Amino acid sequence: MQIGFIGLGNMGGPMARNLAAAGHSVTGFDLSAPMPEGVTAAATAAEAADARDVVITMLPNGAILKSVAADILPSMQAGSVLVDCSTVEVDAARAVAADCAASGLGFLDAPVSGGVGGAAAGTLTFMVGGDDKSFEAAGPLFEIMGQKAVHCGGAGNGQAAKICNNMILGVTMIATCEAFALADKLGLDRQSMFDVVSTSSGYSWSLNAYCPAPGVGPQSPADNDYKPGFAAELMLKDLRLSQAAAEAADADTPMGAAARTLYEDFVEKENGKGQDFSAMLPRFEQRGRS
Ligand code: NAD
Repeated sequence: MQIGFIGLGNMGGPMARNLAAAGHSVTGFDLSAPMPEGVTAAATAAEAADARDVVITMLPNGAILKSVAADILPSMQAGSVLVDCSTVEVDAARAVAADCAASGLGFLDAPVSGGVGGAAAGTLTFMVGGDDKSFEAAGPLFEIMGQKAVHCGGAGNGQAAKICNNMILGVTMIATCEAFALADKLGLDRQSMFDVVSTSSGYSWSLNAYCPAPGVGPQSPADNDYKPGFAAELMLKDLRLSQAAAEAADADTPMGAAARTLYEDFVEKENGKGQDFSAMLPRFEQRGRS
């Protein structure tokens, strides 16, 4: 396929490289990131999108997505598909989907889970919103960049799945970290805590697969001095998106709101910026009840 790829940062770079390595013709554009191996550089976003079968975007936020979409839609050929893999507001995805439909283009919101490691290894999970025809057209590309693509319904539903998943992740990570900090203070050793909870009803991905306590459970960022991994500021971004969506939809999400406030304090008032999101454990350990 002829593919345009816009946004070649930590995630987009390796995703575009994998598409090129699989034999697709990939033309890329980024304001600053270097061109990945096998990707031809375009001078502008519109040039990267011109006459492609599929255009993929992997950008920092919804405002940038909207401005890039406004730039590239006029150069995209009728019947081609814009696939946005960024994590953005549900509303931003639906607005770009409407603009695409008005221009005779397909649109998928296809945010990912799996992080930089998954992008490099081609093992991402895509959660996808949009019509069946566009999903079928982009399917072979999801297979190269990832191990699973779940079609979640119409436009915006991929973003809805992403922010709901990450709201659960933020809440369970905080619960796991505060429970470890409490267990420490009660004199329970961490290995015993892990052995019990990982096989009891308190288990979760946060504890079993990404244990925030160093030296316990499988290798995780805790074993690497809490270097990300998944940075606390990215978790904060996603928790803000879920709270904005909850406000717009009048959904009561008290735990999601508490998680947003805790990560906001951690990133903006404390030392969380640049640390993995599981560094909530040393944060809780250093604190008492007041
Ligand atoms: P990044 O900052 O490394 O990459 C974004 C790239 O977009 C940068 O290279 C930047 O130069 C480029 N860019 C910005 N504005 C542009 C424009 N107008 N035109 C062209 N290029 C432009 O970020 P990332 O870590 O690759 O994340 C990208 C998206 O993926 C974000 O929405 C993020 O929330 C999501 N995400 C990231 C991870 C992760 O672990 N990093 C995991 C899941 C989802």
